[in-house]
Amino acid sequence: MGRLDEIKAQAAYTGTNLNEYEPSPFTIDTARDLLMLDVPALVAAVEAVLELHALGIGDLFTAEGIEARLAHCVECTQVEHKFVVRYPCPTVTAIRTALGEEP
Ligand SMILES: [Zn+2]
Repeated sequence: MGRLDEIKAQAAYTGTNLNEYEPSPFTIDTARDLLMLDVPALVAAVEAVLELHALGIGDLFTAEGIEARLAHCVECTQVEHKFVVRYPCPTVTAIRTALGEEP
């Protein structure tokens, strides 16, 4: 089981105490681990991806070969192949959407 699967399994306990007749496996230790260990790990993972998919601004060639000063993703844009992906790229948009932000 990978780290993300472990966090997902841990987080799944948070919704299990709706049935008052069954003891919840969600304990104060589970809550502490989620807040102190899992949330920082998830934030670090998202920040690492967002660092890679950073905003770049510069003179580039679009797919049509037109030079333009574009806001682009420095990770997705392939300068040597003259392939520009505008910022925010699909990766940044997917992260923002998952976080409930405007894309
Ligand atoms: Zn990107």
